[in-house]
Amino acid sequence: MGANSLEDSFGRRFSYLRLSVTDACNFRCVYCLPNGYQRSEGAEDHLSLAEIRNLVSAFTELGMWKIRLTGGEPTLRRDLLEIITMISENTAVKKIALSTNGYRLKQMAGELRLAGVSAVNVSVDTLNAQRFSALTGSGQLPEILEGIEAAIALGFESVKINAVLMKDTNESELALFLSWIRRRPVSVRFIELMPTGQTEAVFKKHHLQSNPLRMQLLEQGWTIKPRGPADGPAIEMSHPDFQGSIGLIAPYSTDFCATCNRLRISSTGGLRLCLFAEGNHSLRHLLQRSSQKEDLKQTIHSLLNKKEVSHYLPEGRYGNNQTFSSIGG
Ligand code: SAM
Ligand code: SF4
Ligand code: SF4
Repeated sequence: MGANSLEDSFGRRFSYLRLSVTDACNFRCVYCLPNGYQRSEGAEDHLSLAEIRNLVSAFTELGMWKIRLTGGEPTLRRDLLEIITMISENTAVKKIALSTNGYRLKQMAGELRLAGVSAVNVSVDTLNAQRFSALTGSGQLPEILEGIEAAIALGFESVKINAVLMKDTNESELALFLSWIRRRPVSVRFIELMPTGQTEAVFKKHHLQSNPLRMQLLEQGWTIKPRGPADGPAIEMSHPDFQGSIGLIAPYSTDFCATCNRLRISSTGGLRLCLFAEGNHSLRHLLQRSSQKEDLKQTIHSLLNKKEVSHYLPEGRYGNNQTFSSIGG
């Protein structure tokens, strides 16, 4: 089985692995973990460094070259830098990205860069400190923004902000975000709120389509960048007067899944074929020894045949996803 052999029945190729390293989090975002993280009794431990090494080795031999570390909050893991260093020693990995709520970014940005992270995505749904506290349970917006400045100064290849669009909360903040990125090389990605088992009510109350935002941006002279062959489902927009850019992630839009290029692994080693799939396929038993690699590759390959063409969100089905914190969003 050679490189680039991860292709599903619909001709989509998978180059991008989203690896959750913990399901724990210290924030309580209303659309993700509204009651905060609670470890369930008898819950399995997160993958060890050795298990992650075996996993990444198999996936890269199947053609994956971009790895995103996510969670829960990945910076809560004490051995995060060791994980990153170990992954960056695998020469087939061309890009290591990190998704974080940013609470330790100011202190950690330098170490993360040195260890091998080249792209950071920080969740900042609002630039208003009071609203930020209400949405996340954290009073740390100023420090998080300083962490983003530190990441820019350190020359990360890409610094992105993820902002979940919500009716009656941050929907009026477009102008604020735009003035913030006028002189900062940061991409703000507006993500449409998605339903999960724990947050159905929040979804019903606050879901907002991103299309009106797109129209507003087009009217203000923003243009949609052409899509590269390895690009995922986000729409990227740029404007000559702005150093930063805008991304829109609109899962309800037509053909959103046609460019799906990613697979997900839960913190306990479950392969999730789609964010909205009905379940995970545990790979953990195949991560115990490096000698299991061929078996592991074979298993991943055949599981990929089960990947469906799209999600079923318009039909009101979102799989058994209770919260994105268990699978990294
Ligand atoms: N804790 C890190 C963070 O917040 O960036 C990484 C994990 S978090 C689950 C990954 C992404 O999922 C975040 O950008 C978050 O905003 C997004 N997310 C979580 N729940 C969501 C929901 N119901 N709808 C849309 N995006 C969601
Ligand atoms: Fe934690 Fe990220 Fe979920 Fe917020 S979105 S609760 S920071 S895992
Ligand atoms: Fe891929 Fe599923 Fe996301 Fe569609 S919803 S882009 S199929 S992971």
